[in-house]
Amino acid sequence: VRESAYVCVCVFVPGCIQDSGSLVGQSEWSAYFPDCRGTSQSPIDVVTTQTKYDPSLIPLTPLGYSQHGNKPFTLYNNGHTAVIELPEWMGLGGLPWLFTAVQMHLHWGSGGPSHGGSEHTINGLSADAELHVVHYNSELYPNMSAAMTQRDGLAVLGILIVTGEETNLAFNSILNYLSRIRHADQKVPIPAFDIQSLLPKDLGRYYRYNGSLTTPPCYQSVIWTVFHERVQISKAQHGRSYLLVRLHRIFLHVFC
Ligand SMILES: [Zn+2]
Repeated sequence: VRESAYVCVCVFVPGCIQDSGSLVGQSEWSAYFPDCRGTSQSPIDVVTTQTKYDPSLIPLTPLGYSQHGNKPFTLYNNGHTAVIELPEWMGLGGLPWLFTAVQMHLHWGSGGPSHGGSEHTINGLSADAELHVVHYNSELYPNMSAAMTQRDGLAVLGILIVTGEETNLAFNSILNYLSRIRHADQKVPIPAFDIQSLLPKDLGRYYRYNGSLTTPPCYQSVIWTVFHERVQISKAQHGRSYLLVRLHRIFLHVFC
């Protein structure tokens, strides 16, 4: 067993509570992080018959997503998932404030046959995976750590991913490099690419709600946008991403 088997996984946490290597499952999160007991927790099941059309919501505008420049992006395994740091000129318009991009990451779930990998579900149906693009409110707060505890501090895009026959070349810009970050804390530079190509085409139809980080410390600081349109990757592409998860799940013992 590698030394990192008992690594403390700090997904978003400024100060860390170390629990010496015991397994802290989702049911125990709230013992360590009171916010995980909150009433605005994510993810949610979107029940479309209970959603309300809000004419004040406008289409989201990704800012600079396609201007990736020549400097490589950094892809890393934070012990929980694969994360890509985003340059600070990328942001999001179409919300009451300007939001600056921080990072994006993927969720694959537990991957069992009866359990899809997405975090959000629509009418009880999960997708196979979910991409989250994380931004902070740069009009009101100086950085991510200041914003992440504040209501309206973060804006996260949720992109549901389903598997099909066709290969989605945009996702290869990430998937091609996952084998290089099989272990927690591994970091590799990857060629910069067009982030907008990962998003669905229709950015005008989405579900908006106020929710939280989906892992401890569960701060209820996120303006969520879950797009109605799903993006598709091939089964083979999904299989490659799942391989990474199985490997690094072995090392995921503690959330803190
Ligand atoms: Zn996430």
